[in-house]
Amino acid sequence: MPLSFRKLRAFWRSPPATKYPSLPKALSAWGPDARHQRPAVLLRWLVTEWCNYRCPYCPQTHDRRAEKGDGLTAHAFDNFPLETWLEAFDRHFKDYRLSLVITGGEPMVDRKNMPLLLDHFSAKESVECIRIDTNAWWKPEQFALKDISKIILMCTFHPSQTSEDEFMARIRRILDAGFRIGMINYVMHGADKDLFEDRRRRFRDIGVALHPNPLWGSNGTYPEADLAIMKSSLPEVDYLYRTGTQNPYGKGCLFPALSYEMDYKGHIHAGCMSEGGLFFDSELPKRPLEAVLCPMHSCVCLDKYSFLSGIERNISTNPLMEYKKALWDRHPERD
Ligand code: SF4
Ligand code: SF4
Repeated sequence: MPLSFRKLRAFWRSPPATKYPSLPKALSAWGPDARHQRPAVLLRWLVTEWCNYRCPYCPQTHDRRAEKGDGLTAHAFDNFPLETWLEAFDRHFKDYRLSLVITGGEPMVDRKNMPLLLDHFSAKESVECIRIDTNAWWKPEQFALKDISKIILMCTFHPSQTSEDEFMARIRRILDAGFRIGMINYVMHGADKDLFEDRRRRFRDIGVALHPNPLWGSNGTYPEADLAIMKSSLPEVDYLYRTGTQNPYGKGCLFPALSYEMDYKGHIHAGCMSEGGLFFDSELPKRPLEAVLCPMHSCVCLDKYSFLSGIERNISTNPLMEYKKALWDRHPERD
């Protein structure tokens, strides 16, 4: 870890701006801060596959105790105590600023460990952003959090599991409790597509951006009707990458240099790279020291392609808020 940190810091002091001229804005947000000289790291953590919903298109196992091999289950805090996770977080990232994405499953289904986890992260000056991906089923009063100012929610609306009115009521309650919502990820299927525009306006009226997320067709492409909705409502660059129209191959990308992805077993790898390790080891897997040239011909994940040269959207350590602005700007003339 110290080796990685020193090399990274040296890299950030002299970023390859001439090699990737369109990335300096992202570098300035994720490079060392003026006060402590700590670079930022993005960690996407699949904390659980445990979920209260049973969406028919979901590939996850949903049950908290589902066996996942090695004697481990689908839930991080059943596999290792919360304290073990927190010790590893504090040890690995003591010299960094952290932007977290906590995803599932449904992370908020664990009403015992999540408040403790969130309070721990919120109290740390080095943690700058805590994004939680949630289906928004929970009541804010069930979580007596000490501070929610660093939390931003990505709420997914699954019409197969809840009605629009029920979901809207939950979103209102979450907003009233003071939570920030970056966007509503609207999983569209069948007739839900025809309701997109009405729902987009309805959510916009309460200050929330609706993001269309149609299911892929069986042949791995989107039907024409879905493409039309995406084209009319997504920022152009997101339409191109989400639909696979734009090829990232050979473009400079900072995601592998800035990020880790981890699961509920503690398996962790750098960015989109395959070589990994275990979170509880003494060192984390090495990240590239600079932007890499993308080796893939498609990248449909918003969290990832937003770090590409030519896009460079993530100019703060709160990428979801940056995307919310882009989604919001897409529609001002219609309202
Ligand atoms: S809410 Fe998400 S994790 Fe839960 S069943 Fe639906 S798609 Fe799967
Ligand atoms: S664009 Fe996607 S696949 Fe390519 S390097 Fe970046 S994160 Fe990896």
